[in-house]
This record gives sequence, C-alpha cells and structure tokens, in this order.
Amino acid sequence: MTIAASIQQIEGQLPAQTKLIAVTKTKPVALLQEAYDAGCRRFGENKVQEMVDKQPQLPPDVEWHLIGHLQTNKVKYMASFVSLIHSVDSLKVLQEINKQAARHDRVIDCLLQIHIAQEETKFGFDESEAETLLQSGHLDQLPNIRILGLMGMASNTDDEAKIRQEFRGLKQLYDRLSGMQRANVAFQELSMGMSSDYLIAIEEGSTMVRVGSAIFGTRN
Ligand SMILES: *Cc1c(COP(=O)(O)O)cnc(C)c1O
Repeated sequence: MTIAASIQQIEGQLPAQTKLIAVTKTKPVALLQEAYDAGCRRFGENKVQEMVDKQPQLPPDVEWHLIGHLQTNKVKYMASFVSLIHSVDSLKVLQEINKQAARHDRVIDCLLQIHIAQEETKFGFDESEAETLLQSGHLDQLPNIRILGLMGMASNTDDEAKIRQEFRGLKQLYDRLSGMQRANVAFQELSMGMSSDYLIAIEEGSTMVRVGSAIFGTRN
C-alpha cells in the first residue's frame, strides 16, 4: 500500500477526537513529504537530533512531536519549535523544558510518560510518582510548561487482553488525574497506541495514536 493509502485507511478508523501522529523516525525526508502531501501534519520523532535535522526541510505548518526518551541536555535544540513532548519522565527534564521554553518566550506542551508495560526497559513514571508530581508545588514554579495529559506504551506482546488491560489502566489513571486543578495542568490528551495496537487503544480512549511502520513500512 502507498503511504497515502495507509494514512487514509488509518484516519478512517479513528474517532473524530483522535489524532494521528505519523512516526517518521529513521525515514528519509522524501517520505515525510509524501505523508505531508497526503494530508499529514503531525510527525513524531524519537530522537531530538533527527527531528532538528528534518524540521527545516518540511513546511512550517508541520507539528513536531517528540516521542522518545529525552535527555536534559537536548531540550535546547528543539525548544523553539517542538509542538508536544510525549515522553516527559522526570521533574528534572520538566524543569529544563520550562527553562528553555522561557528563553523562547513560549509555553511548551508536555505529556507525562507512564510506565504501564511489564518490560523493565521502558521509561516513565509509575502511577503514584505521576500523581505526586501533579500534586506537588514544583509545578507552580514552571509557568512555561503545560501538562496536557499522559502517554504510555503497552507491553510488546501478542496477548491482546494484556494490552487492553494496560491501556485501560492508563485511561483510569488519566480520568482520575483529570480533575486536578492547576494553572499549568489541563488534561485533554491520552497518547496510546502504535501500529500493532492502535485499534485496541482507540477502543480504550486514546486521543493520539503514534503510528510508524503501518504507514511507512518496517524499519531496519
Ligand atoms: C517507534 C515508536 C512508535 C511507532 O511504532 P510503530 O510500531 O512503528 O507504529 C510509537 N511510539 C513510540 C514511543 C515509538 O518509539
């Protein structure tokens, strides 16, 4: 299937409130342009350097989403243009995002990455850590960030029941934390679902699916 046909097929499966983030990591700019020409305006990269290299080569109305683990020393390179950081996993990185956003006189939108999978290797807060952070006074010192919701990755397994259970748990946490009243917390996005599990994720309430290989083919 062509990139355009894949995008059209996936878009056709998404509920109105769910947004497609085309995950373009490792893919050449020509393929991003092809996705853009097919109507795609949201691209997800997992490495800051790669995103910084590609951004000036695509039209300015592209939204750039950082979906991979973020080191504090890399924040400054993308602070002028990043649209949403899905992968915030520490207060330290949040403080650095705030600092760099202030330098550009903007507010950077963020999601807290929650560790929901069984694998040890995945980054993210656990549920109680996220709740503690959202309730702490630390956020009041960070006027240049806004927390829009949560992101999670399910276990890499064929067990659909398990994947569904992990997404459902994340949605429950999202609903519980949604009531939180803070100046820079405004829950409206739940980023969950990839090529192999986005149909389950949307059934469980995802508002953003991050899909790569189902659009662009497998990565090497
Ligand atoms: C690579 C990646 C995706 C997309 O994975 P596919 O299986 O190619 O759809 C989604 N989310 C994150 C965090 C990723 O690193």
